[in-house]
This record gives sequence, structure tokens and C-alpha cells, in this order.
Amino acid sequence: MRVFLERSIIKPQLSDVRCNSCGRDVDKTNIGYFEDHVSLSKTWGYHSPYDGEAHDIDLCVDCYTDWIAHFEIPPCAESLAGA
Ligand SMILES: [Zn+2]
Repeated sequence: MRVFLERSIIKPQLSDVRCNSCGRDVDKTNIGYFEDHVSLSKTWGYHSPYDGEAHDIDLCVDCYTDWIAHFEIPPCAESLAGA
């Protein structure tokens, strides 16, 4: 016979997303999802300028648009519409 204990598990729940560039909160839709935005995670290698650091970055769509406007080569864009 097995006897089980009931335990409460605390899980982190994402409550807010703030744009690293402009500092504004990413709004939530009326069904509770965050508006579309970019989330990047990067762990830098040793001997890089950020030697071994892990960076997490969130950008709102406005700041993403400003960022990619400075790219010499634009991001590859594929449309899901009509696929
Ligand atoms: Zn922003």
C-alpha cells in the first residue's frame, strides 16, 4: 500500500513583460495573452565581450521595428498567411 502526501508546489507565473529598450509594459490581450513581442535568450561564450553572461531580452514590436531598421541585411520574412 502506498500513502501519498498532498503538497503544494509553487510555480513561477509570468505576470508582466517589460520592453528592455523603452521600458513600457507589453499589453495583454482580452484573453490574457501578451501582445506579440520578441524574447531573446543568449548565453555568451567565454572570451566574448560578455564572457559567460546569460542575457534575457524582451522587446515590444515598436522597438523591434526600430532595431531591425538599422540592419544591413533585413530578417528573413516568411508569411504564415496563405500557407
Ligand atoms: Zn519597446
